[in-house]
Amino acid sequence: MPYRYKIALLKISGEALQGSQGFGLDPDTVDNIAAQIAEVAREGPRLGLVIGGGNIFRGQALAERGLNRVTGDHMGMLATVINALAMQDALERQGLETRVQSAITMVEFTEPFIRRRAIRHLEKGRVVIFAAGTGNPYLTTDTAAVLRANEVGADVILKATRVDGVYDSDPRTNPQARRFSEITYMEVIKRRLRVMDATAMSLAMENGLETIVFDLRKEGNIKKTLLGEPVGTLVRIGD
Ligand code: UDP
Repeated sequence: MPYRYKIALLKISGEALQGSQGFGLDPDTVDNIAAQIAEVAREGPRLGLVIGGGNIFRGQALAERGLNRVTGDHMGMLATVINALAMQDALERQGLETRVQSAITMVEFTEPFIRRRAIRHLEKGRVVIFAAGTGNPYLTTDTAAVLRANEVGADVILKATRVDGVYDSDPRTNPQARRFSEITYMEVIKRRLRVMDATAMSLAMENGLETIVFDLRKEGNIKKTLLGEPVGTLVRIGD
């Protein structure tokens, strides 16, 4: 099939794995996402994955309750490793070859992040899951996704969310909210819309990486975005 994108970095929030239970990991939800990923990974596109940790811990939220921010962020990064291992297991049950590469060394059950090795895995058709964010506190897994996308030469960032794109206001509270089929990063920043955090967006913009924001809950959407079908919102670099 004529895929528009050959190498993609898929960013999934931790919350996407919790299903309707509101916390932690819902195995059926993880399996469902893994099946969607497997469907495309078998057909050629190379996929890197960054999974958040918000379903388990968020450093900032813990800091607001008195915990040291850096400690909270370390816990948050560990949460992303838990999610990465769950996704690895689910993907392998789909018959895919996978590797987890962690920004924090945990050699007993993940590889360390080594850029050239990650690229080699992708060339061999393995799904590479980048765990532990960037390895640094005060950052997010959105930033990790853009960073890894740049490092492995991805053509696009797929930002999976629970809404079907970027709107001019919150569609959950405003029924008149309008969805953009395309928008530039500058426009997103100017209008203070939520796509990714500012660090992640400027890193993507400066390096010419487009992002597609789409609804992960609609089955087949990962495939459609990679085929270049109009799904969600395309965030462009601009002039
Ligand atoms: N985190 C961090 N550095 C990173 C990536 C993540 O410190 O480079 C920590 C941070 O505490 C964050 C948590 O890990 O709140 C979980 O990541 P994130 O909030 O991005 O997850 P998501 O919202 O995508 O589920």
